[in-house]
Amino acid sequence: MTASSQNNSINSSITESLDVARQTYQYNYSHIPPIPMVDQLPPAERFTTNWYFLLAQQLRVLFVNTLITNRGNRGSGSIRDDVKLFILEALVKGAIPARISIIARLLQIAPQFLIQGLSKDLHELDDLLFSLLKENGVLILRDSLNRVIKLLYEGQPTGHATSLQDYEKLFPVIGAPAIAYTFQEDEVFAYMRVAGYNPVMIKQVTSPGNNFPVTDEHYQAVMGNDDSLAAAGQEGRLYLTDYKILDGAINGTYPHYQKYVYAPIALFALPQGSDPNRLLRPVAIQCGQTPGPDYPIITPNSDKYAWLFAKTVVQIADANFHEAVTHLARTHLFVGPFVMATHRQLPASHPLSLLLRPHFEGTLAINDAAQRSLIARGGGVDRLLSPTIDNSRVLAVYGLQSYGFNSAMLPKQFQQRGVDDSNLLPVYPYRDDALLVWDAIHQWVSDYLNLYYATDADIQKDKALQAWADEIQAFDGGRMSDFGQNGGIQTRDYLVDAATLIIFTASAQHAAVNFPQKDLMGYAAALPLAGYVPASILKGEVTEQDYLNLLSPLDQAQRQYNLLGLLGSVYYNKLGDYPEQHFTNPQVKPLLQAFQSNLQQVEATINQRNLHRPAYEYLLPSRIPQSINI
Ligand code: MN
Repeated sequence: MTASSQNNSINSSITESLDVARQTYQYNYSHIPPIPMVDQLPPAERFTTNWYFLLAQQLRVLFVNTLITNRGNRGSGSIRDDVKLFILEALVKGAIPARISIIARLLQIAPQFLIQGLSKDLHELDDLLFSLLKENGVLILRDSLNRVIKLLYEGQPTGHATSLQDYEKLFPVIGAPAIAYTFQEDEVFAYMRVAGYNPVMIKQVTSPGNNFPVTDEHYQAVMGNDDSLAAAGQEGRLYLTDYKILDGAINGTYPHYQKYVYAPIALFALPQGSDPNRLLRPVAIQCGQTPGPDYPIITPNSDKYAWLFAKTVVQIADANFHEAVTHLARTHLFVGPFVMATHRQLPASHPLSLLLRPHFEGTLAINDAAQRSLIARGGGVDRLLSPTIDNSRVLAVYGLQSYGFNSAMLPKQFQQRGVDDSNLLPVYPYRDDALLVWDAIHQWVSDYLNLYYATDADIQKDKALQAWADEIQAFDGGRMSDFGQNGGIQTRDYLVDAATLIIFTASAQHAAVNFPQKDLMGYAAALPLAGYVPASILKGEVTEQDYLNLLSPLDQAQRQYNLLGLLGSVYYNKLGDYPEQHFTNPQVKPLLQAFQSNLQQVEATINQRNLHRPAYEYLLPSRIPQSINI
């Protein structure tokens, strides 16, 4: 074979496999219109057995906790016996089909099972849940798993809490998360803005704005008489979170509650001085966009329950923004089109494809599961979040379409919000840790791509790469806005930035907003995913019971923890851990080792920082998965 005929045969086999990929990975724009998603999940994209088993293990923890909460008082007082009784009841009632292998095995050893019950670590339960999940084939809990869950929720606490302790009682086995004991503190409320579940909202302002008429009197009551709004504005010490995007959203009612969406504005300020540990303080909250009697300005000096109510309204808005925009749209749905275009346009051996694919594992599967169930009518989002499901989906679409690729570059994000200067805003753990991880990824991507592209011209003449860039933006492709340099990719620097953003979003950014779901967002007293009282109640006096009525009813609170606790506890893979022999080019090895040792250095730096600030651990590289898969 001559060199050129060999090339031709390689080229034709590449063309063939791309043809197959284009058949397998087809776009769909109607699952969440008009967002590009995969039409049918290709078999190769399905979750692995290991992933299901990890999910089942986490599910077991929540399952047992819920079981004991809802029916512990019916059993013997032993967790193992209660679980055994439940399994038997589920079998008798036909909720669990006896053909499931684990049940068959349990029945084969029925005498021991009936007499001895379950083993101490309840591992039989992992097997059972795994079987239910795996037989269903998708994360979405249908059929038998749905029947088991329905049975599990029988007897659950319902109605509004009459004291905050009612929420603690939802955790008889696993204990309430730590946030349960600190969330009412103003310092914790402010710290959420810079180190919480949605640390991307706060922006620097010179004044609160015309529609938020905070006065010096309000301001000085919090910050002291030797300070003023004007001085704070001038000196870069005023910060706002504004949830205008939620104004006019439609209040949801599923499953059978009137829920409320709010569009509050909250003002924060830093004290004068140069203390490097100075923290933001909350100054004032207005629970709607229009000033006036319906939305009075509430401050820490207002009545206790009015202030708690107003802070909770901000938390509710922040949580709704977080789930639809920050989490779903700007990580899951943002990365999806890159998975598609990479499979459809880059040969498997292409250096960019090799670099990116490990960061895409499980992403199409989790996004597909989300659109089928989690964000479908009657799913978890419909049940728990404030707006109607249609409105939550529209928020996600808006969140993605307003997030142009080039403006999503991490350093630009901080500049755009005026929070990039650590002299002005010294304690911003998300910013500081995210930039460390960003730089480590950037260095790795740059070292790696430099092996394959010596000049900008090499980039410009890589046809597969240019086709990839075209498809990312195409109307019949990824529909990504603000991508590329005049449409294509012209320089090595741009390709490095673009690949860094894709990998950072698929790993660190998703970790930063996904895993706080368990610790910070699961506890409904601290963070109800919906409000249950209109904010206009702040016109008059607010009682403790009004505040408790704002929070999730107990059945909703239990469901909230179970959903967010599950989503926030599956750590399937780890940033920097590429499969053995993934990179066949021997020159990659030292570069990858440098990346991995950089990540260890970042880990040490973050641990060191946590000695001097309230701990922020979501961007420790050891806790950042390689890809979005939960
Ligand atoms: Mn997620």
